[in-house]
Amino acid sequence: MSLVKVKGTYDVLSSEARRWQALETYVKAVFKKFNYQEIRTPIMEYSNVFHREDENSDMVTKETYNFEDKGGRMLTLRPEGTAGIIRSYIENKLYATNDLVKLWYMGPNFRYERPQKGRFRQFSQFGVEVVGAMDPYLDAEVIQLAYEIIKGLSLKGVSVKINSLGDKASKQNYMKVLKAFLEPKKDQLSPDSQARLDKNPLRILDSKDPVDKELLKDAPLPLDHLSDEAKLNFEKIQEALALAGVEYKIDKRLVRGLDYYSFVVFEIQADIEGFGSQNALGGGGRYNELVESLGGPSKPGVGFAFGMERLLDALELEGIKMVDEPKLDAYFITFDETSKKEAMKLQSLLRKENISVDLNYSGKAFKGQLKEALAQNAKFLLILGENELNMGKINVKNTKTEFQELIDIKDLVINLKEMLHHV
Ligand code: AMP
Repeated sequence: MSLVKVKGTYDVLSSEARRWQALETYVKAVFKKFNYQEIRTPIMEYSNVFHREDENSDMVTKETYNFEDKGGRMLTLRPEGTAGIIRSYIENKLYATNDLVKLWYMGPNFRYERPQKGRFRQFSQFGVEVVGAMDPYLDAEVIQLAYEIIKGLSLKGVSVKINSLGDKASKQNYMKVLKAFLEPKKDQLSPDSQARLDKNPLRILDSKDPVDKELLKDAPLPLDHLSDEAKLNFEKIQEALALAGVEYKIDKRLVRGLDYYSFVVFEIQADIEGFGSQNALGGGGRYNELVESLGGPSKPGVGFAFGMERLLDALELEGIKMVDEPKLDAYFITFDETSKKEAMKLQSLLRKENISVDLNYSGKAFKGQLKEALAQNAKFLLILGENELNMGKINVKNTKTEFQELIDIKDLVINLKEMLHHV
């Protein structure tokens, strides 16, 4: 039997891992600029953090990995970041010390979805949650942050779409109107949409099914059912977005997968050739009831999440390279036990000076070792044999210019540092 990875998962091999690291470093720097602090919560939570009466999305009801632990507790692997972070916000009483918390996170999530391009069962998200204030300028800042992430990466075929679902009352009123509109057409709707009609009718609005799309052409839209307060809120967000220099489009049919959103919702979409149908790079919105529904005080929140895999795909398709070929500063080639011992010693001296260095362990002849060194993109070869050792010297060869010089072993660190300066 050959062993294979779990369906819907993937390995990140070294060359890919460098791209992941570069993107992670970049994103963290943007969070810092916006004054967000990191939070790390567990990958598993008690199931009731996600499985709540007020949450009927497919993601939670159908796609979670649930299991009982040996103590008979029901646990769920997190399918998304928000609920766990809010659980932590409440449990640690973060509201007691700060009126407003601005948090960022990064890490894996799990959903039992049908794997396809851009959709996995284990995938990685980074995102933010801002809890404690209801302010259109704050919503705009959160959208601006998502926009800056994309802009700073120079992605071109990407746009920000926004919409408003209104406050709780407008949303509920709208859902009634939408249901009344869809009810007579129920039999013609796709099976998925039929199933959603009762509990999650909003999601029907962004159905990708062509028949649904046709039926929904004249459907009532959330923006036309906003209360005055919600309307004003949406206008102010747009005003603030303009002040912040964020380009966006209003998408009147935009809704989000989770039930807890109200007021503004937004998505960062890719329109890049070859990207595939899963074109949402990230999305988010306001959730004003979630903290309370998880047993906390009444605190409004807003946030978003991006998928790392899709973002990396978009970067690749647009030919945006985040990393250079990795290079090693130096590589030791030795020929016997004595020279290997000396190399071992020198190696740690060099590493202390932040010089990256490796040593050949293959026991191969010179040619084989040289091949290895070049495959590692070493800038310098440090060749140490019996002859060199007897003279107290070492051969240092620049792999690019092929210039080679014999230097005193005791001067290696200082000389190599100098040479590295000039390459
Ligand atoms: P959501 O949490 O569903 O709002 O998704 C936010 C972002 O996470 C999406 O725009 C995707 O980039 C990413 N994402 C969600 N589900 C998956 C998945 N199954 N596989 C890969 N990326 C995903």
